[in-house]
Amino acid sequence: MEFQQLGLIPPIAQAVAAQGYISPTPIQARAIPHVLAGRDLLGLAQTGTGKTAAFALPILQRLAHIAPGKGHRHIRCLVLTPTRELAAQIGDSFHTYGAHLPLRTTVIFGGVGELSQKQALERGIDILVATPGRLLDLANQGFINLKQLEVFVLDEADRMLDMGFIHDVKRVIAMLPQRRQTLFFSATMPREAQDLADRLLYKPETVAVVPPSTTAERVEQEVFFVEKSDKRALLVDVLRDTAMKRVLVFSRTKHGANRIVEHLDKERIGAAAIHGNKSQSARERALADFKAGKTRVLVATDIAARGIDIDDVTHVINFDVPEVPETYVHRIGRTARAGASGMAMTFVEVDERGDWRAIVKLTKQDIPVVEGHPYESTVPMNVVPAAGTAQKKVQDRGREHRRSNPRRHHHR
Ligand code: AMP
Repeated sequence: MEFQQLGLIPPIAQAVAAQGYISPTPIQARAIPHVLAGRDLLGLAQTGTGKTAAFALPILQRLAHIAPGKGHRHIRCLVLTPTRELAAQIGDSFHTYGAHLPLRTTVIFGGVGELSQKQALERGIDILVATPGRLLDLANQGFINLKQLEVFVLDEADRMLDMGFIHDVKRVIAMLPQRRQTLFFSATMPREAQDLADRLLYKPETVAVVPPSTTAERVEQEVFFVEKSDKRALLVDVLRDTAMKRVLVFSRTKHGANRIVEHLDKERIGAAAIHGNKSQSARERALADFKAGKTRVLVATDIAARGIDIDDVTHVINFDVPEVPETYVHRIGRTARAGASGMAMTFVEVDERGDWRAIVKLTKQDIPVVEGHPYESTVPMNVVPAAGTAQKKVQDRGREHRRSNPRRHHHR
């Protein structure tokens, strides 16, 4: 399928061509016609599939049909998204794809001053991209009127619920007019997300993009068997390869991520951590430095990495093996984006071997084992603790600290 077949108007087609996109991604090919036709949409897709353009392009086209009048502009489209990073990226996309249209987009999120956001709202805008908290703040102060809204997009609904935004989201929904077009995007559909979709959508079209396990096939993969205590040394060792230009390292915990960064610092390898305990400005700085190539290594937890848009990640390193096998596929999908090739390495300690087996089973791939590396595990490969063992040990350790009066079981 080609972009021409989607019937995008010339100013939008031009902006798309300027991005160098050759053909629409599957979600774009399937969602754009429905959105252009004014239908509600349930889009099951994660970041990295091209979902932003899947809604931004047809929305711009629909709004462009009616040029803004001379009077004060009112908000015609609202995109609600869980994080500041996503809001900024979506705002950038609307600016890029709408560069040749007379529509105004503004992004509002918390953690920064309100003044410039208020000024933009007062000047009048067509498209608002927002996180829920700041949107409600400014609405309560009378800066936001959604009565004339035409299109509402709820982005990353599952994550929104994960982050505890359900009440805020419901408050925003209460501000919307009944007659509107609604687009609902979520990577997964837990019960709560389905309930919300049922409330919001009217006779929706559903578009689900191929499960990410097929993306994994483009990523070259390797596995290293290693003792837990040698993982950091192994990381330093593999990073000696200068072809590893932009490396995303996954750690299961925030604390673990910090320790990895400290270790790399000692070895003079530029690294930064990105996770929920970092301030907004620290996260933005880490991301910007990584994007600009100033830091080679970004160490992230799964939650922090979800949704951030980084092109050209050359390598993904699973410092810890994810406990949920699908998470592996999501993680390695962060490299080899938009047609580029990429590489993923996984460090497996003895207690993680069961989890690793589950991943091999899920991906149905024969992932090559790196042999003869300096930190190879000496524990025979037939020793395979059950899946979840590594995670369980961490939990047990926590429990031991709390337990004041250990009970003993006597087996007769
Ligand atoms: P998203 O899933 O919206 O975060 O998009 C993931 C990445 O794919 C972004 O960096 C987009 O710029 C890029 N992208 C979106 N659509 C296309 C396309 N049709 N061809 C190539 N790259 C694209």
